[in-house]
Parts: sequence; structure tokens; C-alpha cells
Amino acid sequence: MLEIKNLHVKLEEEDKQILKGVDLTVEAGKVHAIMGPNGSGKSTLSYVLSGRDGYEVTAGSATLDGEDLLEQEPEERAAAGLFLAFQYPVEIPGVGNMTFLRTAVNAQRKARGEEEMSAADFLKLVRAKAKDLKIDADMLKRPVNTGFSGGEKKRNEILQMAMLEPKMCILDETDSGLDVDAMKLVSEGVNALRDENRAFLVITHYQRLLNHIKPDVVHIMANGRIVKTGGPELALEVEENGYADILAEVA
Ligand code: ADP
Ligand code: MG
Ligand code: MG
Repeated sequence: MLEIKNLHVKLEEEDKQILKGVDLTVEAGKVHAIMGPNGSGKSTLSYVLSGRDGYEVTAGSATLDGEDLLEQEPEERAAAGLFLAFQYPVEIPGVGNMTFLRTAVNAQRKARGEEEMSAADFLKLVRAKAKDLKIDADMLKRPVNTGFSGGEKKRNEILQMAMLEPKMCILDETDSGLDVDAMKLVSEGVNALRDENRAFLVITHYQRLLNHIKPDVVHIMANGRIVKTGGPELALEVEENGYADILAEVA
């Protein structure tokens, strides 16, 4: 589904190479995790895939179902089924959460040639999905993420994902800032979306999230590259020994 080959990325305004040849293939139906020390380029990878400004691809490719992602506008990537849950969700004062969700859902339906969802159907759906994530009606009425706690913002990201039903879901450190109960809610939200036509790239610094969202494949990223790939046991190895051993081994 997602195929990244030899991806090299530098900052636009600085001569700083951040991704130095990322190779990664995520198959439909699978959950891949990316772990790695701070500053290794995990967030940069997710930003470049989703089309954030400020980065220049100097080599390599990234495709979603065979379509070149890198030449598409961010909204085209979203319409094609790519979703990124941000490490640091942005506050959007003045835009109601519900309005935002409805606009996003309908934009995506339109891009797929589907009809708009009726107001009544939308309301029913958003209430049901919000309830699963213990997001109360008040949070749906407030401006997007504005004044939300760290955990509320992360749950709101998962609500967006549940509403949009993307096929390629990237979660960037969704577990950071979550207490154990919130992490369970978020994980249940993610697990409910797992199916054979959808894939996940779960970026996390810590193994604990992967106790709840069981990955098929675990990658270690360091210094702008995937340096090691294995099964879930690789995450446990990181938990026990930190990154130092793995980094020394691949150096
Ligand atoms: P991770 O998510 O793995 O912690 P990041 O992708 O956030 O890593 O960052 C990778 C490296 O690129 C870090 O050294 C970071 O400081 C640098 N970096 C990323 N974006 C910028 C930017 N806009 N300006 C300056 N440095 C950046
Ligand atoms: Mg970081
Ligand atoms: Mg990051």
C-alpha cells in the first residue's frame, strides 16, 4: 500500500539533510511501528508523506497504491486515503470541531465522487464515535483543539481518523501525553479500525503503546534511516535495553 524508496529529504531553508535514504513498505492490513531516538526523523517522515511545507525531497519516492504521493497537494493525499495524526495537534480557534469534521468528511466524500453525508447522518455518526472515545458533546462544540488538554487533543485526532476512515493511517507519537486510561481508549479506537484494506504506521518512542496496538512489523529509525526491522520482539528489546545496543550493533 505504502511504498517508500530511498527517500532523502532536507530542510528547505537550511542545508540540513534529515532523511538519508528511507526504505519502507507497508502492506494493506498490516500495522508497522517505527521507533527510534528523538531527532531521528520520524516526524519529518510523517510530515513529508502528508505534504507539509518546508521540506525538499532530494531523492527517492513515496507511493500510495502505486500513485506518486510526493507530487500531490496535501488535500489530494488526504482524498487518496492518507491520514496523519499529529504529534502536536494544532489549535484552530474560530473553527468549531464539529464543523471541521463535517467539512473534512464531505470534502473527502466529494473527492471520491460520493454524495455529501446528510446533517442527521453525520450527527449520529460523530456522536457515536465521540462516545467511544469518551469525547463529550462540549468538546465537539468547542473550536478545534482549542484549550483541549494534551490527552483530549490526541483523542480528537483519533476521532478525526475514525470519521474519515482513511486507508493509510499514520500516528505520530499519539501515546505521548496520554495517561493509561486514555491510551487504552485511543488504542481501542485504532484497533476498531484495523482491517485487511487499511494499514497503519504507528510512530512511538515507547514500547507501551505496542502492548495495546499489536504491530506486525517493528522498524528502528536512527539518523534519518531505518536501521533495523523485526517483529514485535524488537520493541521489547528496545524497552529492555534502550536504543544504544541496537545502534552500536548497526554502526
Ligand atoms: P523525531 O520525530 O524522530 O524526534 P524529527 O523528525 O522531529 O525527529 O527531527 C529530525 C531532525 O530534524 C532533528 O534533528 C530536528 O531538530 C531536525 N528538524 C526537523 N524539522 C526541523 C526544522 N523545521 N528546522 C530545524 N530543524 C528541524
Ligand atoms: Mg521527537
Ligand atoms: Mg517526532
